[in-house]
Amino acid sequence: MEQNDYIKESLDIKDPNITFETEFIKCFTHREYQAKLDYDAPNCPACQEKRENYDFQKPYKIPYLEMGGFKVLIRLKKRRFRCKTCGKIQVAKTSLVRENHQIPNIINHKITEKLMGRKAMTKIAEDLSVSLSTVYRQLERFESKTDWTYLPEVMSWDEYAFKKGKMSFIAQDYQSKKIVTILDRRTQTVIRNHFMCYPHKVRSRVKVITMDMFSPHYSLAKKLFPNTKIVLDRFYIIQNLSRAMNRFRIRIMNPFERKSIEYRALKHYWKLIQQDRRILSDKRFYRPTFRMHVTKQEIVQRLLSFSDDLRSHYELYQLLLFHFQEKKGEYFFELISDTIKHVHPIFKTVFSTFLKDKEKIVNALKLSFSNAKLETTNNLIKVIKRNAFGFRKFENFKKRIFLALNIKKERTSFVLSRC
Ligand SMILES: [Zn+2]
Repeated sequence: MEQNDYIKESLDIKDPNITFETEFIKCFTHREYQAKLDYDAPNCPACQEKRENYDFQKPYKIPYLEMGGFKVLIRLKKRRFRCKTCGKIQVAKTSLVRENHQIPNIINHKITEKLMGRKAMTKIAEDLSVSLSTVYRQLERFESKTDWTYLPEVMSWDEYAFKKGKMSFIAQDYQSKKIVTILDRRTQTVIRNHFMCYPHKVRSRVKVITMDMFSPHYSLAKKLFPNTKIVLDRFYIIQNLSRAMNRFRIRIMNPFERKSIEYRALKHYWKLIQQDRRILSDKRFYRPTFRMHVTKQEIVQRLLSFSDDLRSHYELYQLLLFHFQEKKGEYFFELISDTIKHVHPIFKTVFSTFLKDKEKIVNALKLSFSNAKLETTNNLIKVIKRNAFGFRKFENFKKRIFLALNIKKERTSFVLSRC
């Protein structure tokens, strides 16, 4: 096989008009190829007259896919044609790169593929040896279109801090986890204006909306979606309860001497207190804090022995968790009403919000929606956010989330605008 054919095959370059001339290896980290793009002069597109070969452009640097661990750079010289009649000069075309572009189509496809994942923009650029602005340019080529004829039966509403202090609103299809919309602010007006664009008939289709417990949007949702029930997200209910437990543990821990076993044990084993005690394993391990072999259950007993207050709140917390997991709303609220007067203010606050939102919590238990929450989505968005320090524009952040969540799935409302 000739060297040219060999190189073309290994780089998977199909354009017959490209010929490879030389190959260099530089610094043992990347390969450079010199290539020419040339073919017989076609007629002039302007006047249909015959054209002649003019000259070659100075080589274009084209970053290409990595090969066998080597970064690849192609220096492509393109033929220029000149029309004898009108004097117009035109550059030869190739399927490798779009006209007036430097990035091969295959790299753009790779960028898109990676944009659907979770990697940081800077990492994508680095991996493919392209500039950060190339990655952004590819992201910006997507546009989101809203399907105004469809809303899911079960929707979940959420809020995310896109930037510090800047909250955005996200609505998701509960079942498919696909994004319904992302709005750059979460004010009532912004949300209302968006959903009012759906015809009444479409809005009537929504049966359930799950949301965060402190969401100020209950009544708005009721107005926009006449047939909907509001369900508090079970994830948030548990989260609020478990946060109260955690803050209370810290209260108990802090007065102890920093070096004391009480302080160290309460600090180190915080998670065991939060966890549902039914899942604590009874395997025995050596624990340096206690200098002996103990089970997780025994550790919890040790921690509780440090404070009666901790013990009584822990018992209450575990019982509430139990009723909640068993979907016994009645017992759950009975226990809350019975104890609210005697519990620590940290719990008192949480209990009174629970009582205020009783109906929505009971709905959450009855309707069995929202169990595992949209944790995958949450995590994904967290990762994207963490990797998104480059997202100065909300639009880009939004596109990235859409790409990651919707594009691979079938009913996508997301299209490539041009490619
Ligand atoms: Zn011409």
